[in-house]
Amino acid sequence: METHPILVVGSGPAGLEAARSVAELGHRVVLVERSLALGGAPIAENYAALTPDLDDAETAMNRMIEAVRTDPLVDIRTSTTVVATSGQAPELAVTMKGPKGEDSLTVGAVILCTGFQHFDPGRETQLYGYYEHDDVITLVDAERMLKAHQFVRPSTGQPPRRVCFIQCVGSRDRQIGNTWCSKVCCGIACKEAIEIRQLVPDCEVFVFYIDMRTYGFWEDQVYWRAQEEYKVSFIRGIVTEVTKRGDTVVVKGEDTTMGRPVEVPMDVVILSVGMEPSVGTREMAKLFDLPLEPHGYIATVGGPLNPVATARPGIFAAGAATGPADLEDSISMAGAAAVKAAGFLRKGLRKAG
Ligand SMILES: Cc1cc2nc3c(=O)[nH]c(=O)nc-3n(C[C@H](O)[C@H](O)[C@H](O)COP(=O)(O)OP(=O)(O)OC[C@H]3O[C@@H](n4cnc5c(N)ncnc54)[C@H](O)[C@@H]3O)c2cc1C
Ligand code: SF4
Repeated sequence: METHPILVVGSGPAGLEAARSVAELGHRVVLVERSLALGGAPIAENYAALTPDLDDAETAMNRMIEAVRTDPLVDIRTSTTVVATSGQAPELAVTMKGPKGEDSLTVGAVILCTGFQHFDPGRETQLYGYYEHDDVITLVDAERMLKAHQFVRPSTGQPPRRVCFIQCVGSRDRQIGNTWCSKVCCGIACKEAIEIRQLVPDCEVFVFYIDMRTYGFWEDQVYWRAQEEYKVSFIRGIVTEVTKRGDTVVVKGEDTTMGRPVEVPMDVVILSVGMEPSVGTREMAKLFDLPLEPHGYIATVGGPLNPVATARPGIFAAGAATGPADLEDSISMAGAAAVKAAGFLRKGLRKAG
């Protein structure tokens, strides 16, 4: 007896892997993506090289996209999202809205992979002058330049002489309610620091941090490599303000190792912005009637031994929709969610048979 297809919402790394794995298990998949292009943040935000291996992001993502595009079991719907649901998995009715209007179908299980969005460093509590100074940029803006193999001061178009990163912008900040560590930004800053030193060897690069969190193998792969091989300077400190003085941007704060105030001119300041649950994640949680965990991401209920089960049977979540996640986390969760979703359908078949 044939089952209904499995719906995967979101086509970032997690959604692509979930769709590919479900199809590999022999089930039909409907993959729904609200934007025009597949690939999630690495494609939409023009990532350059991926941490930790410095693989070209577009090439790596295109391999994942190709795998789902060429699989006849995957029905891809871009510029589409889910606008209504009724019933329960494995007989869950969903209405989707796409370029040709609304379409309804019944799905057997759902995997939500709706991802994250970057923290907006222009919020009122942020004194970094992101929207005031051209030479204050984010990790994401830097990725765009690095992808083009050209790292310059935005205000002049010339190579910079001094660049610094400011860590934990929009993360680990109780004042704004984002208490979590975004997990990837320390590693990404180290990776970008290496890429800047490769492109502009004369440029000095500094990283202002509260504490560096390059967990697991990233410690060797990017942190020590940045420090020892690429001579990036790491300064433990708290930056309180970024202002403009003449041609340069001035970073003010405290060096907490030396216990003294610092005030250093920079050509470019890069804000290591953290992750927040995407609007799509919050919308889908509401639509599928799923509780959020206290930080606003989709709550998973299986604890560390089953990180993809949600409060509703047959509905699973994976990747950065469930909390800060790197690619490895996102892909691993997506594979687990695909197996659980397929298992959910097969259990239903066994009962029916
Ligand atoms: C600057 C930066 C660089 C990074 N570089 C690396 C790196 O080098 N290595 C690494 O391991 N990690 C990196 N990361 C983390 C990495 O981006 C995430 O781990 C990964 O993108 C999470 O994948 P995802 O599929 O869960 O979410 P996303 O990539 O956010 O994809 C979610 C997708 O869902 C879609 N969507 C959302 N809502 C809906 C909806 N309602 N309906 C339909 N579609 C919807 C979105 O359009 C998007 O395509 C980086 C993060 C940042 C901030
Ligand atoms: S990964 Fe690093 S920069 Fe990002 S929130 Fe955690 S400690 Fe801060």
